[in-house]
Amino acid sequence: MVTGQLLALLAWIRSPRGRQALPQGTQPASGLQPPTPAGVTAQEESPSPLPRGEVQGQQLEEDQRAWQQLEELILGQLEELKQQLDLQEEGLGRLHLGVGATDSEKRVQHLTLEKEALKQCLIFTGELLKHCSPGFSTRAPQEEAEALVELQGQLREAQNATEALQVQLGVQEVQLQGLRGALRQLQQETEQSCRRELQQVHRQLAGLRARMASLRQGCGDLRGLVSTFTQSCQGSLNEARGQVSWALGALSVSEAGPQLPEKQQGPPPGCPGRILELKGNIRVLCRLRPGTPSSLVSSEPGLDGSVTTCYRGHRRRFRLDWVFPPDASQEEVFRELEPAVLSCLRGYSVCIFTYGQTGTGKTYSMEGPPEDPGIAPRALQSLFREMRTGGQHQVTLSMVEIYNEAVRDLLAPGPPERLAVRQGPAGQGGIQVAGLTYWDVPNLETLHQMLSLGRSNRATAATAMNQHSSRSHALVTLTLQAASSTRGSGTTGTLHLVDLAGSERAWKAGGVCRARGDPDDAQRLREARTINRSLLALGGVMTALRSRRAHVPFRDSQLTRLLQPALGPGATAVLLLQISTRPEDLGETVCSLKFAERVGQVELGPARRRRARRSGTPSSLSTDTPLTGTPCTPTPSPGSPPSPGPDSGSSSALVPQEDLLS
Ligand code: ADP
Ligand code: MG
Repeated sequence: MVTGQLLALLAWIRSPRGRQALPQGTQPASGLQPPTPAGVTAQEESPSPLPRGEVQGQQLEEDQRAWQQLEELILGQLEELKQQLDLQEEGLGRLHLGVGATDSEKRVQHLTLEKEALKQCLIFTGELLKHCSPGFSTRAPQEEAEALVELQGQLREAQNATEALQVQLGVQEVQLQGLRGALRQLQQETEQSCRRELQQVHRQLAGLRARMASLRQGCGDLRGLVSTFTQSCQGSLNEARGQVSWALGALSVSEAGPQLPEKQQGPPPGCPGRILELKGNIRVLCRLRPGTPSSLVSSEPGLDGSVTTCYRGHRRRFRLDWVFPPDASQEEVFRELEPAVLSCLRGYSVCIFTYGQTGTGKTYSMEGPPEDPGIAPRALQSLFREMRTGGQHQVTLSMVEIYNEAVRDLLAPGPPERLAVRQGPAGQGGIQVAGLTYWDVPNLETLHQMLSLGRSNRATAATAMNQHSSRSHALVTLTLQAASSTRGSGTTGTLHLVDLAGSERAWKAGGVCRARGDPDDAQRLREARTINRSLLALGGVMTALRSRRAHVPFRDSQLTRLLQPALGPGATAVLLLQISTRPEDLGETVCSLKFAERVGQVELGPARRRRARRSGTPSSLSTDTPLTGTPCTPTPSPGSPPSPGPDSGSSSALVPQEDLLS
């Protein structure tokens, strides 16, 4: 029964009447319009335009297809239900025939319940059909179409807007890419310009640094020049003062009546020795050793003399301050040096050193044989003679040798000891020789005794050049301290007498040694090399002084260290060059003359007097003196001649050092 009803329903729905009775959304696109509640047709109410009709037609076709699918589905379900109902009705009929009333009733109740359930299902299906069907929409198709068109319009607008936005987006993306490129280029340009500027700044900085370094250098040089100039001025001033006071003294004595001894009046004007006294400088004198005359070495003796050599086909003339011919006597040589020696009594520092090849007469000129004494004995004699007639002086003596760069005390009470040479305290200049012995010398006899003691302590050794020549530098220092007088403060003068070791080139001495198979070959060679180095250092110092460099390499050797005060500003230095005229010595002779030529160009500025402190002890030494002793150095009592024994220093007194006043 149910099935029949359902089938009837479907048949009705599918019939034209049922379709017309169904809501409008379910109408097929056949152009038939369902009747409105007011009985007015849709055509009468709003004549729809053709394009909208076409759209609606397509939509309706789609709806119809969906509807047909749904309908087929429901029909299938209904068909199944119908079959189930048929089966149940058959079963019920069988039950009515063969089973008891009670069971049948139960069965009937059960089936009834099932039937009710199927009814409910059917109702639900109907409802479902209603809801699923587009015909149940409350809106009219016209409105739907309009809404649809409106929606389509909106959709189109939205699409247009989207397209426009996409175009804009594309444009902006292109712009963005352009901007990014420009930014990248800007960054690169900025980076490059920054790098360039940085490099330029670096270059400028390097230039500034170099400029600063050169300015510093210039500043140092300027300081050195100013210092040299100041010292030079001071020296000139002191010299002028000394000359004025000397002139006044001489005037007062001449006015008083008796004439001064010739020696006290100083050298006569025009005497070459006076140049040494007044100018105060490095003077180079040359003495030719006696021997067979050679045409390869000739000389023009006297003031501003010259030596001409002919070596390896080259003729060369060397100008010197004074040239002594081979037959010049010891007396003649000393006469030229005496004014400088005596200037020590007035507070000047004087350094006389002999330079030359071994065997050319350095020691002969400096010491000389007893029967014909050289510069040192004559100088000491002259000084003591002058002191007898002059004022009170305290004379102190020290003597060292430099052998293989070791400084040895030649006047030590015991065996010669190696001494340490140190730089003096900051600001005071000079050097100190710790543990050096120095003696107060009361008279000439004592002085001679001490000098012979020192000579005997000096290291000597045979070389290929000269069996008896000294292979060490010997330095004798005499300090003369004048007591203060009513006319002025006391002065401290220093006389350095330096007998240098042979200047011949090391290869020559060593080569001959080797040829002779000398067992002390290595030792001799070492000696020769050390001597050569120290003389080279002396040449370096001279060159630095000549070019007025701020730094003078005094520290390059012990010799130059010890000679530092003797070669300082205001000092008088005399280089006595000894040369040989023998043809086989010609190479060394030329070398020595070249060295002398270099030294001769050095200027130390005008001679300068040094004044001692009024409160200074008579036996004190200046720190500016090369051979400076330590305060605990033994000093023999005045009047007691020193002896080489260890006890000789027992009566010594502690001698403090004193600063130099200039
Ligand atoms: P150096 O010290 O330069 O090595 P020396 O002074 O020992 O040379 O002299 C070497 C030798 O030459 C010595 O025997 C010395 O007497 C002699 N002699 C040097 N110069 C003269 C001179 N002017 N008159 C006489 N003999 C001299
Ligand atoms: Mg000698």
